[in-house]
Amino acid sequence: MLLVTLISFGTISSQNKEKQKDPIIENIIKEATENSQLEQLGHELLDVIGPRLVGTPQMQQANDWAVAKYKSWGIDARNEKWGEWRGWERGISHIDLVSPRIQSLDGTQLAWNPSTSDEGVTAEVIVIPTVKDSLSFQNWLNGIKGKIVLVSIKQPTGRPNYNWEEYATEESFNKMKDARAEETKAWRANIKKTGYSSRSIIPALEKAGAVGIVSSNWSKGFGVNKIFSARTKTIPQVDLELEDYTMLYRMVEYGDKPQIHIVAKSKELGRVPTFNTIAEIKGTEKPDEYVILSAHFDSWDGGTGATDNGTGTLVMMEAMRILKKMYPNPKRTILVGHWGSEEQGLNGSRAFVEDHPEIVKNVQAVFNQDNGTGRVVRISGAGYVHSYEYISRWLSAVPKDITQHIETTFPGRPSGGGSDNASFNAAGVPSFSLSSLSWDYWNYTWHTNRDTYDKIVFDDVRSNAILTAILAYKASEDESKTSREKIILPINSRTGKQGTWPKLRSPTRNGGLD
Ligand SMILES: [Zn+2]
Repeated sequence: MLLVTLISFGTISSQNKEKQKDPIIENIIKEATENSQLEQLGHELLDVIGPRLVGTPQMQQANDWAVAKYKSWGIDARNEKWGEWRGWERGISHIDLVSPRIQSLDGTQLAWNPSTSDEGVTAEVIVIPTVKDSLSFQNWLNGIKGKIVLVSIKQPTGRPNYNWEEYATEESFNKMKDARAEETKAWRANIKKTGYSSRSIIPALEKAGAVGIVSSNWSKGFGVNKIFSARTKTIPQVDLELEDYTMLYRMVEYGDKPQIHIVAKSKELGRVPTFNTIAEIKGTEKPDEYVILSAHFDSWDGGTGATDNGTGTLVMMEAMRILKKMYPNPKRTILVGHWGSEEQGLNGSRAFVEDHPEIVKNVQAVFNQDNGTGRVVRISGAGYVHSYEYISRWLSAVPKDITQHIETTFPGRPSGGGSDNASFNAAGVPSFSLSSLSWDYWNYTWHTNRDTYDKIVFDDVRSNAILTAILAYKASEDESKTSREKIILPINSRTGKQGTWPKLRSPTRNGGLD
C-alpha cells in the first residue's frame, strides 16, 4: 500500500514538470500493461470454448462464461434473449483419400452440415463436366447417383499473388494471371450453361443422388480457405484445402477414379434461444446516459474466431475490467454489448437497438471494434457534423504512442453495414468503428480455417484496450451530451441520386429454421 502511494506520488510530481497528467489515465495504462488479462481471456474463450456459431452450445457457453467473468470483476452482467436459431453442434470431420492410395485430407464440414453416420460415406469422386446446355447437364445428372461431386474451380496455383510477385519472372506471373482469369471465366460460363448458379447447383446434385459435396473456397493465401454454411439437406458438404482438392481434381481428370471417405458428424438441437451478453457499470451523475462498448461475440466456425471477433471481444472485456478497477464510479453508465449473430446480418445489435429505445435515445457514443487483431489506425466521424469536436477532444487524452498510428476522418460517412456500429448509425446514434491495421485479415483470418489464437498480436490488442478504456472514460466524463446532427450526404456520382442515411432494419429473430 505504502509502496503504491509513493510510486503514484512520484509519478505525479515528475509529470507536473511537463504537463498535468490524469491519474485515472495513468492507472488505466498501468493496469493494462502490468496486469493484462488478455492472454488468459483469449485462452479461455478461444482454446477452451472455441468457435461461436449462432445456435451452437459453444455460443451459449461463451455467453455464460462472459457473464461469470464480469461478475467475478464486480460488474453487473446478463444475457438478453433476442431471438431463436437452428440449434446445431459441430462434431468430428474426417476426410480420407482411400483409392488409389490412402491419405488423410485437410478439410472440414461446413457449418450446419447434416450429420453422416459413424461409418460415413465412401464413394468415387467426380467433377462437373463441361456442358453444352442445361439439357446435357440434366442428362449428366442422371448418372451421378452414389458419387461425391467436386463443385469448386480447380485453382491453377496455391501460391498467393504476393509470392508470385516476389519470385516469378514478370512474364510467368502475367501468364499465370491471364490463364487463371480465363479459366475462371470459362468455369462461370459453364455453370451458367447448366441452368444453375454455383449455389443452386448443390441442391440439384443432392436431388440427383450425389452422396457428398466437396468444395474448396480458397482465400488467396497459403493453406487458407473460407468456411461458411453447407447447402445440403441430408448429404455431407465438406471444404478441402486447396491442394488436397486440386489433387483429387487432377486424379479425376487423369482417369484415376479416386475414392474418398467422409465422416462428418454433427447434432441437430432443434430451436434454441440466442442472446446478447450485456454488462454495465452504472453512472453516478447521469445513469440514464450511456457510453457503449461494442463487439460481436459470435463467429464462423472454420477456425476459432480469434480475430473475428475474438480480439474485439477481448478488447472490450479488458477495457471494462480496467474501467471497473480504475474508474468505478463513472459519470455516465458504461455498457458493453457482446452481440450475437453479427455474421448473419448484425442481428444481435439490431435487436438491441429495436428493444431498447430508452437506451438508444441517450447514447453518448458507441465504440465498436471488429476487423482483426491490429492496432487501431482509423477512426471516422461516421457522418456526424460535430464528431470532430468531441472525438478529437477525447483522443487528445490518449497517449501519443497510441494516437500517432490513428488517422481520423471528419465528418466521415455513416456505415451502412459491415459491423454492429451500423445498427446504431441507422438509429442516428454517434457510433464509431475503431478500425484496425489489417495484418492480412481479409485473406488469412476473416472467416477462415486459420482464424486462430496464434494470429493474435497481443501488443496491438493491449494498445486497443487502453485506447477504448480512455475513450470510454472521456466520453463518460464529457461536460456535454454529444451532438447527433448529421451531414447531408452528397449526390452519388454513379447513380446521380442524393445520398441517404442508412435506414433502421429489423433483425432476423428466427434463423436457420424452416
Ligand atoms: Zn466480425
